[in-house]
Amino acid sequence: MAVKSVALVAHDNKKKELVDWVADNRTRFAPLKLYATGTTGRLLRDNLERNDIHCLLSGPLGGDQQIGAKIAEGEIDLLVFFWDPLEPQPHDPDIKALLRIAALWNIPVACNRATAEFILTSAYMTDDRHQPKKPDFSDYTGRSVSA
Ligand code: PGA
Repeated sequence: MAVKSVALVAHDNKKKELVDWVADNRTRFAPLKLYATGTTGRLLRDNLERNDIHCLLSGPLGGDQQIGAKIAEGEIDLLVFFWDPLEPQPHDPDIKALLRIAALWNIPVACNRATAEFILTSAYMTDDRHQPKKPDFSDYTGRSVSA
């Protein structure tokens, strides 16, 4: 089975929830390749005692965009992004961009623990015969601009 890559991101008020959820599912996460934005990743490393988590830049410093780039390059299979619905963020445009690129490339996205549970326990996580279809943009020529 191909190893799945998961990107993990949480806003400050949601970090504890994400870390707790990953810790509660430690066994399921064990075979997965993990990426995370900087602060989220360091918290996960410390709490899970896993030093193989690929920590990118902190979200407000470009970490969300780094994850978006990895999605566009086909390196991420699942995005778990516990964003905060009660607080504006200084990098809201980056967050919108990340969610857009995940939708574009047909990547499953969990924005809360309930959705994350459904995805993590899905056959898609463990069975290569069940995979989301990769979009084909080979004939995409850009937006048509009328003169
Ligand atoms: P952080 O970034 O993990 O560095 O806090 C998350 C975010 O706010 O996008």
